Amino acid sequence: MGLADDGGLTLPESIPDVSAQLGELRELPYPQLAFEIIKLFATDIPEDDLRGLIDKTYGEQFVGGVAPVVPVGDIFIQELWHGPTLAFKDVALQLLGNLFEYILAKRGGKLRILGATSGDTGSAAIYGCRNRAGVDIFVMHPDGRVSPIQHRQMTSVLDANVHNIAIDGSFDDCQHIMKTIAADLDFKREYSLGAINSVNWARVLGQIVYYFSGAFDVCKATGAEKIRVSVPTGNFGDILAGWIAVKMGAPISQLILATNENDILARFFNTGEYSISEVFQTLSPSMDIQVASNFERYLYYRVGSDPAKLRSLMETFGKTGTLRVDVGLGGTVDHDIVSDSAEREQVIDAIARYSEKYNYTLDPHTACGVVAAEQFGAADGDPVLCLATAHPAKFPEAIEEATGSAALAKHPQIEAIMNLPTRCENLPNDIDAVKKFIADNAS
Ligand SMILES: *Cc1c(COP(=O)(O)O)cnc(C)c1O
Repeated sequence: MGLADDGGLTLPESIPDVSAQLGELRELPYPQLAFEIIKLFATDIPEDDLRGLIDKTYGEQFVGGVAPVVPVGDIFIQELWHGPTLAFKDVALQLLGNLFEYILAKRGGKLRILGATSGDTGSAAIYGCRNRAGVDIFVMHPDGRVSPIQHRQMTSVLDANVHNIAIDGSFDDCQHIMKTIAADLDFKREYSLGAINSVNWARVLGQIVYYFSGAFDVCKATGAEKIRVSVPTGNFGDILAGWIAVKMGAPISQLILATNENDILARFFNTGEYSISEVFQTLSPSMDIQVASNFERYLYYRVGSDPAKLRSLMETFGKTGTLRVDVGLGGTVDHDIVSDSAEREQVIDAIARYSEKYNYTLDPHTACGVVAAEQFGAADGDPVLCLATAHPAKFPEAIEEATGSAALAKHPQIEAIMNLPTRCENLPNDIDAVKKFIADNAS
């Protein structure tokens, strides 16, 4: 599920501690490691079934490995984009699609996923749900306002259970339609409506695993006992998984939270004040977010796992657009997380430098993480692993601006889809029209 009916978020009852098992875990191939981590949370799925689901998820769908680590200059890069849509969201959404299918087969019934996307999440969600028995997926995007590559990635999926909807409006309009329909509990029940957005706990769960695998790989390569991990983040989804991995005992000494100019999270971790400002359009559109939907989960732990305190802070934030936590001794909000934001010129500079010096092309999201890693001295101290969240071929304009040529931003998977047939429904910016479309097309 996404949001609970009361608007809150789900969390595990407790965070398991695996620090005594690191010696065994570090020898496991990715699918086995995923099984050992995920089974600690998914205690209601029989182990053999869970193993099958995980093997199916992390097999040939990920070309060249799920989360391979490569050394580049002073840092290591963990390429999380080897899945079908070339973005890290595949790591969790492929798992989620398989979990949906499994649970629906056991329980019977259907699930209709309704999503709104400004680009990247939509394609990863579609690839996670395509052709899954029992699941229909409806993804709205603002007509004419997603990039040509993103549009192709979504609309070239022709499976009968996939429905792309171009809304005559903005991304905010799409989100408004989605939230209004999701809040209509009668409609939600009648059509078994679910969500696949970043507040779905299973997405966080699927992401915990690569923090362990990345830390193990870098520890083995360097002989270090612990590493730092730099995470480009928007909704606090990816880095929340990292923070939980730290709490579970992963060999990680610090997380580096990287934002673009939309720096609400960086400001929070530097001052203790979380306050909304305007949304800027940047080279890393998947991080152009002000209110981070997973931040509330982190805040729960930060206020001593006290639901009343959390509720009061979130109410204050809802009313005033600002909330504040006490900073600890030494003036830090959390000694596990340091943070910095990357400006446009720094991102362009990092892409250009890495291309020239190391012959490695960073996508603009990954470049934010690399810039932050450099700010915190990547060459000294514990080694730094930077998470690469997308393949550069998804963002050819930024690569061209940085390097003078889009030639470095090519991938055969992108080229292959550019000539495929597409299917998409155009609808007005109207809640009832979308409801009717769902009702008419629900299998
Ligand atoms: C979604 C996305 C992010 C941000 O991830 P969060 O979970 O929102 O922190 C970063 N990079 C890319 C390429 C993405 O698609």
